Amino acid sequence: MIKVLKFGGSSLASGESFAKVKRIVEADPSRAIVVVSAPGKRFGGDTKVTDLLYILHAHIKYNAPYNDIFEKIKDRYREIYASCGLKQDLETELVNIEANLNKKTSVDYIVSRGEYLNARLMAEYLGYKFVDSADWLVFGYNGKVNFEQTYENLASIVEENSRIVIPGFYGVNPDGSIKTFSRGGSDITGAIAAAAIDADMYENWTDVSGIMTVDPRIVANPRPIDRVTFSELRELSYMGAEVLHEETVFPVRSKNIPLYIKNTNDMNAPGTLIMESFDDDDKGSNFITGISGKKNYSIITIAKSRMNEEIGYIRRTLEVFENLGISIEHIPSSIDSFSIVVASSAIESCLHDLISQINERLAPDSVQIVNEVSLIAIVGRKLADNIGIAGRIFTALGENNINIRMIEQGADEINIIIGVNDTDYAKAIKVLYALSE
Ligand code: ASP
Repeated sequence: MIKVLKFGGSSLASGESFAKVKRIVEADPSRAIVVVSAPGKRFGGDTKVTDLLYILHAHIKYNAPYNDIFEKIKDRYREIYASCGLKQDLETELVNIEANLNKKTSVDYIVSRGEYLNARLMAEYLGYKFVDSADWLVFGYNGKVNFEQTYENLASIVEENSRIVIPGFYGVNPDGSIKTFSRGGSDITGAIAAAAIDADMYENWTDVSGIMTVDPRIVANPRPIDRVTFSELRELSYMGAEVLHEETVFPVRSKNIPLYIKNTNDMNAPGTLIMESFDDDDKGSNFITGISGKKNYSIITIAKSRMNEEIGYIRRTLEVFENLGISIEHIPSSIDSFSIVVASSAIESCLHDLISQINERLAPDSVQIVNEVSLIAIVGRKLADNIGIAGRIFTALGENNINIRMIEQGADEINIIIGVNDTDYAKAIKVLYALSE
C-alpha cells in the first residue's frame, strides 16, 4: 500500500502547521510521497507566499526596490525553519535564489520558489528525501505535461527512494526552464505523482473536512459529502462548486486511484472519498450527493407551429449560436417550441445580432427571453435507483412557493437540473438541502 499526500498552503503556513502534517504522515506508514504547496495564510488578512512572490516579480520587473518584500518571504521560511528545529543551510538557499533574480528572471521561476523551499524544509522535517519537480515533471513543446516521460521519471526515482517530498505547482520545460501550472496547481502535481507510481490512494489535505453537500455561504455548516463519484464531482464543479483544480481529477481518474479530501486540522474526520464508482453503495438513504448552482442565465424560447415537421430547424438555430460563439448550456424542448439556456454574460454583447439572425434564418412565430434565471443541479448517483425522487423534489419546491422555470434530467440520470428565478436561488438551495438530510 502506498499513498500520495498533497498538503495545501493553509496546511503549511507555519511551524505549527508543519507539526500537524508530520503527525498525519507518521500516523500511517503507507504515506510515502508528500507533495507540498507554498506557505499559505496563517490568519485572515495574511498574504500567501505565492502572492508575495508574484509581487516580488512585479517589483523586479518594474525596477522597484524589492528588498522589503523579499525579506517578508524569507521570514516566512525562517519561522518554519526555527520552529521545526531544522539544520539544513536555508540561508545559502535564499542567497542562491536571490542571485538568480534580475529583470529577465521568469515569473514562473520566481513563484515556483515558494513550493521549492517549503518542500526542502518539509523533507528534512519528515526525514524524507527532497526531489525537485524540475527533475521529473516535464512539459512538452506544446506546453502540456509529457505524461509518459513524467511517469517514467518519477517511477524510477521512487524505486531508489520510497519516501520523498516533492514541491507542487511546477515542472520543467524542454529547454530546462521552470514552468508552473495555473494557480492552485499543486493539486495537479499530487495527482500526477499518484498516477506515476500507481499509488493506492491520493490524499488531498486541506483546511476543510471534505467537499460540502452545498455552498456553505448559503447553508451554514452543511454536511460534507462522504462519497462522490468522479462523474458526480464533474457535475457539481461545473455548476459552481469549488472543489479541486479542474485538471486534478484526470490523472487519478484514468488510473482508477481513489482520491480522498481530508482536513489537516481534524485528521480523523472522515473527509470525502472520490472514486469512479462504489460497489457497496446502500440504495436507500442519501439519494442527493450534492447540490450546486449558478445565477444569471437566460432562457431563449423559440416557438413555431408544426416545428416538429421541419427537419433541421434546431440545427439551424444552433448554428446561429455557434456562429456568434455562444456556448449553450441546455436545450429543453417540446413539440412546437424549444428553449436554449445560456449564461446571460454570453449573449450580452450580441443579443441584437442573435435575435435578428434567428428571425431571419428561422422565421419563428415567437422568440422570448427570460433573464435572471438560476440553474441548480441536484446531483446523485442514486437518483436513478430511487422511485419518486423527482416528485419529492418538485413537491418541496412547490410547497415553498418556488416557481420552476425549467427542468432537465441528464441522460445518465445522475443529475436533475432545475431553473428558478434568481430571487429564489438561495431559498431553493436551502429547501433542497433540507430534503437531502
Ligand atoms: N502556491 C500555488 C498557489 O497559491 C499553488 C498551490 O498552492 O496549489 O496558487
